Amino acid sequence: MPPPPDPGDGWPVLPPAPPASSPAVRASMQGNRRRDTRPELAVRRACHALGLRYRVDAPLPLEGVRRRADLVFARARVAVFVDGCRWHGCPEHSREPRTNADYWTAKLERNRRRDADTDARLAAAGWVALRAWEHEDPAVVAERVRGTVGSRRVAVSDG
Ligand SMILES: [Zn+2]
Repeated sequence: MPPPPDPGDGWPVLPPAPPASSPAVRASMQGNRRRDTRPELAVRRACHALGLRYRVDAPLPLEGVRRRADLVFARARVAVFVDGCRWHGCPEHSREPRTNADYWTAKLERNRRRDADTDARLAAAGWVALRAWEHEDPAVVAERVRGTVGSRRVAVSDG
């Protein structure tokens, strides 16, 4: 039997996580659910220091699904995501887990598909999705954000 749909988000619900095999793994699993992770905060601070103003952890104007971005520039229609290396499959830091491999693989695949789906929905709505890895230098990410938002303000502006 297929699992019930995740209300409003369109992807199937994962089975419950297996028991964490160690305190470190448990902390990592819990870390995935925590809002305002350190890399997000660092990127926000760096953007703020550049004079950028944005909404934080705000819902995106997408029909039929509930998605949020870490930084939202509504007027420029830019959504910034700071993706966790482990959970979103960073090529440098996402290693095959030795324990609970099936769970991790399913979770990673789900996140990847969801990220791609979010980006496609944003593009269809006239938005730009800007993604950064949590391992990236926040100052470099902020410069990228400023460049994208700046060019979008010019392009989107209609007087
Ligand atoms: Zn990484």
